[in-house]
Amino acid sequence: MKILVTGGAGFIGSAVIRQLIRETEHEVVNLDKLTYAATPEALEEAAGSPRYTLVEGDVCDRALLARLFEEHAPERVMHLAAESHVDRSIDGPADFMATNIMGTFALLEAARAWWQGRPGEHRFHHISTDEVFGSLGAADPAFRETTPYAPNSPYSASKAASDHLVRAWGETYGLPVVTSNCSNNYGPWQFPEKLIPVMLIAGVEGRPLPVYGTGENMRDWLFVEDHARALRLVLEKGAVGRSYCVGGNAERSNIAVVRAICAHLDQRRPEHAPHERLISFVTDRPGHDARYAIDATRIRAELGWEPQESFETGLARTLDWYLAERDWWQGIRNRRYGGERLGLSGAE
Ligand code: NAD
Repeated sequence: MKILVTGGAGFIGSAVIRQLIRETEHEVVNLDKLTYAATPEALEEAAGSPRYTLVEGDVCDRALLARLFEEHAPERVMHLAAESHVDRSIDGPADFMATNIMGTFALLEAARAWWQGRPGEHRFHHISTDEVFGSLGAADPAFRETTPYAPNSPYSASKAASDHLVRAWGETYGLPVVTSNCSNNYGPWQFPEKLIPVMLIAGVEGRPLPVYGTGENMRDWLFVEDHARALRLVLEKGAVGRSYCVGGNAERSNIAVVRAICAHLDQRRPEHAPHERLISFVTDRPGHDARYAIDATRIRAELGWEPQESFETGLARTLDWYLAERDWWQGIRNRRYGGERLGLSGAE
């Protein structure tokens, strides 16, 4: 099977491609703009395979997309390319609208044009987030596939818009679409602007650990390799027109996550303990959602998916990976983005 993956040099996309190359016979074409968030180093192993091709380009480039479909004739699309960092979407939403909305539109049109009239088991899999559902109160039931959309940040609004486009292309044009909405991912190769690597790195460097507000915001956490497995199942067995909520059944407050990181650092670097003394509460993010939680009954019951990693084991693996790969994140920290060094003011 030939699969076009977009955003495959990112955190989740690279985990998907590593699995596809290692564990299947599928051919993978990775279209990625290689923005600041890309980590092509995470694909070194895949890059040695004749079944893997990297194409550097923009998912909004309709001529390029037409050429890619023509040249590679993919039967499946896994669409992950996106601007993904909520804080950046608040500071500058334009790129989020362009890539997340117009990029999805361009890709839907390219798939429609190429697949129309061509026989085959085609599938357009859109990878989305639970943030499209908005924020839960403490006593509310977890998000499910039927939860109404209520996005609160420019990022989640752009992802919600793209989910709606995907649905409409399925309903209107009969494009064989499927969408998955997942909770917060964590694991190796996550760009060091997201909560877990930000806190770990600050702890290692002996700087304040910047926790938003009071740190009571709740998130569900899923190890990235478990998400990648879920995505492969949805791609291979997901029902056309259906959406699947994916989550780790691991609801934790941000402050609990930060404390767990401190406890791990205390074990690994007892000479610097206690790391909790570095916790520092910073002004909350505007429109900060209080709670996300996922009811993953559908993907478990219909596709037989189960996460393999608990939050505790996955977190320990992740933190040890960052401790061992210091050169990688240090290199990223030293690069400049639009004249600025990577900031570590607050994160999630
Ligand atoms: P990421 O930011 O790590 O990677 C995004 C990738 O997309 C990068 O390699 C980047 O170069 C590429 N890209 C950006 N703009 C592009 C464009 N215009 N054309 C082509 N490529 C472009 O993101 P991630 O964390 O791996 O997330 C991947 C997808 O999963 C996103 O769609 C995101 O919304 C969704 N998602 C993420 C999470 C999470 O916790 N990280 C949770 C649920 C859903």
